[in-house]
Amino acid sequence: MEETDNRKSVCIIGAGLAGLTCGMRLSRAGFKVTVVEELASPGGLLAYTRIGREYLELTPHHLRKSDKSLLALIKEMGVEDKVSWFDSTWQGRASHRKVGYFDGGFSCLISSLAQEITDHGGRICFSTTVAEISRLGSGEYRTACILTNSTRFVIDSTYVIFTGSCRTFINVSHGLPIAMDDRDTMMNVTYSAKISAFMVVKHENSQMFYQQMTPGPDTPFDRIINHTSCFGQRGYGGSVVYLVGSCQVTDPIWIESDAEIMLKFFTAYKKLYRSIRKSDIKSWRVTKIRYAQSEHYPEIDLTNPCENLYVCSAGLAKINSSETPENRMELTVSLASRICSMINAKEDQNAAEANAVTEVTSLTRELAAD
Ligand SMILES: Cc1cc2nc3c(=O)[nH]c(=O)nc-3n(C[C@H](O)[C@H](O)[C@H](O)COP(=O)(O)OP(=O)(O)OC[C@H]3O[C@@H](n4cnc5c(N)ncnc54)[C@H](O)[C@@H]3O)c2cc1C
Repeated sequence: MEETDNRKSVCIIGAGLAGLTCGMRLSRAGFKVTVVEELASPGGLLAYTRIGREYLELTPHHLRKSDKSLLALIKEMGVEDKVSWFDSTWQGRASHRKVGYFDGGFSCLISSLAQEITDHGGRICFSTTVAEISRLGSGEYRTACILTNSTRFVIDSTYVIFTGSCRTFINVSHGLPIAMDDRDTMMNVTYSAKISAFMVVKHENSQMFYQQMTPGPDTPFDRIINHTSCFGQRGYGGSVVYLVGSCQVTDPIWIESDAEIMLKFFTAYKKLYRSIRKSDIKSWRVTKIRYAQSEHYPEIDLTNPCENLYVCSAGLAKINSSETPENRMELTVSLASRICSMINAKEDQNAAEANAVTEVTSLTRELAAD
């Protein structure tokens, strides 16, 4: 006899830290989880690549001792033994702050979250872009997906969690009954972009872990992160340096090729460290991040814009705050946990209501039988 699957279903859009945290929590709680990710691998902003004998993030990441929810998640996933703490040799106020990094990079956290989802019967569909979220007459959601080879398919689910930018959410949810004011507020969550380049070089050029600088016409980046000077040589086969710059997508640099950007970044870096030569670079990679940093927080809570649908996006992590928004893993993990608690509470409430109805029905039957 065919077994029926009575689990409530959730479609999660995005396999970054937010999507995978939600997926792990909800699959453990008994939900049927499908994660859809447009890239070919998990991680989102924490995506990584193999360099020598190590995995390295495409953009520089580290842990702070104050990242309470994130450190709790790391412990929950059983990978806390892989974290070591280092003196940051930071420039200025925060000098000698401890910063944490994983043995093997953040890949161990990302892969353990993904593994937990699949171990609980969940699915992660890579290279799949969500084009539209609509609502069926039954109240369920239908998520329309497109594979890289243009094949289309849909995922029907009770709940949807969207973890991309607010702007992308508005683009894929145009048919949903979301108040016009809420749509406008989300559309007004503007983002700055970032360009991150890493180089694996033969020799270390500075002992300083983190240097901030004022960008200008000749300096396209505003941060240098000497990964190796803080986290050690490891198995990269050289020293790793990240150069990170902020920009707008209307800036000419945004549409330049990776090679052109790398040349600009390297030329500016060479002005600071004159002894470095092009031949010292063993490998490099440029990563453009379109929605890197939201520029303000909205005045109202938009994480649940319609019934059973949640937006777990860093730009919504705080409400009505005049603080300069920060895109930090800590905020991402806390928001993901808050959204999972809301969904679990909703299910508990539905179960309590269903029990109450069953009790009334059986009582009515008993009375009728008397
Ligand atoms: C340069 C840089 C350095 C950083 N360093 C640190 C650090 O040191 N410490 C720290 O705490 N935080 C840091 N952060 C922030 C941290 O990376 C983020 O807080 C966290 O990774 C956000 O995770 P997320 O899942 O919310 O978003 P993302 O990682 O952006 O994940 C969203 C995912 O959704 C997918 N997606 C979007 N739209 C669709 C669609 N239509 N269909 C299918 N998939 C879709 C995307 O491909 C992506 O994989 C840094 C960020 C940047 C940019």
